[in-house]
Amino acid sequence: MPAISFEFFPPKTDEQRAQLDKAAKELKGLKPEYVSVTFGAGGSTLSYTSETVARLHRQHGLEVAPHLSCMGGTRKEIADLLDIYRAAGYRRIVALRGDLPSGMASPGDFRYAAELVRFIREHCGEHFHIEVAAYPEMHPQAEDVHADLKHFKAKIDAGANGAITQYFFNADAYFRFVDDVRRLGVSVPIVPGIMPISNYAQLKRFSDACGAEIPRWIAKRMQAYYDDVESIRAMGAEVVAQLCRRLLEGGAPGLHFYTLNRTKATRAVLDQLH
Ligand code: FAD
Repeated sequence: MPAISFEFFPPKTDEQRAQLDKAAKELKGLKPEYVSVTFGAGGSTLSYTSETVARLHRQHGLEVAPHLSCMGGTRKEIADLLDIYRAAGYRRIVALRGDLPSGMASPGDFRYAAELVRFIREHCGEHFHIEVAAYPEMHPQAEDVHADLKHFKAKIDAGANGAITQYFFNADAYFRFVDDVRRLGVSVPIVPGIMPISNYAQLKRFSDACGAEIPRWIAKRMQAYYDDVESIRAMGAEVVAQLCRRLLEGGAPGLHFYTLNRTKATRAVLDQLH
């Protein structure tokens, strides 16, 4: 089995904390290389991410990778957070630009993820293994695909060690992206981000927001199941496992699962892969 990693978001309530503990316990059994925790997405604050990685590291003994975004952070605040993570013994960071939450006026001292990567290297040297985001179907705000590829390369040139992709359901988009960046001289591992399917309405909402395409043949079948959750889950697991198999056969170096702090859909995919 190739290296796998799981992504969580920081819980805010006791109920969500219990859910995360349950998920972490169950998924630890699948021996992930590390687990990552999102930052700022959905309006959470700095402390939620650091509190959550501390919990996963100390309580569950997992290797952790806090996400860090440019949004709202001054150089000083980001440096302080990096110092905390370094002192805690973490060795990985996922460095992102993030998106400006509505109502927030200032994007912070860094405009793009490449600037954040450069700053992490300046501040911490080679201590952290830095992952950045990649978009096989193009970042929705990019001028065009060529500009997006060039900006992706800038993050690697700034010192990133690897990339995790936005999720996608079209394996060709991933292979094409990898070929394109290899031609630009990028040689770091590019790990596909995998979104297990458990709830079609939610998947549709996420995909509209982040620019991931749900192929028509998948959408039509999912829609035809209406609220038959079991059939959606079963088809979702089959489709996503097939995608993973194709990606691994085509040379993908690992798989990064967007768990949404749940285990059922992720396990269903991994069970089929085993
Ligand atoms: P960048 O690489 O900075 O790119 C952003 C856009 O700007 C792109 O369109 C790019 O082409 C363009 N660009 C870059 N450099 C330049 C330049 N010099 N001039 C002009 N244009 C430029 N969001 C969160 O808020 N929290 C998270 O924890 C989080 N985790 C994520 C994890 C993964 C694996 C992925 C794939 C995404 C994640 N996101 C998260 C979402 C991400 O923050 C958004 O997609 C955001 O809009 C872009 O972030 P980025 O790091 O890719 O930005």
